[in-house]
Amino acid sequence: MSRCQCCDKRLSDYELTLRHAMTNEFMDTCMDCLSEIAESVPLMVKGRKDLLVSMEDHASSVDNEIELDKDQEM
Ligand SMILES: [Zn+2]
Repeated sequence: MSRCQCCDKRLSDYELTLRHAMTNEFMDTCMDCLSEIAESVPLMVKGRKDLLVSMEDHASSVDNEIELDKDQEM
């Protein structure tokens, strides 16, 4: 079980997969801390997108498809 090296919070499955895009080292840092770091330092991180999607499942992607349909009517 890994914890965030910044705030000691337990990392989610997705956060555990995050690696630095250049060094390929695991970040061991939660999304909250990563976004704070990214504000001051450009940060390239890659993770498993499928896990990210399952995390954001409740933020429905269906709405986007409906908006696209409206545009196509024009
Ligand atoms: Zn953290």
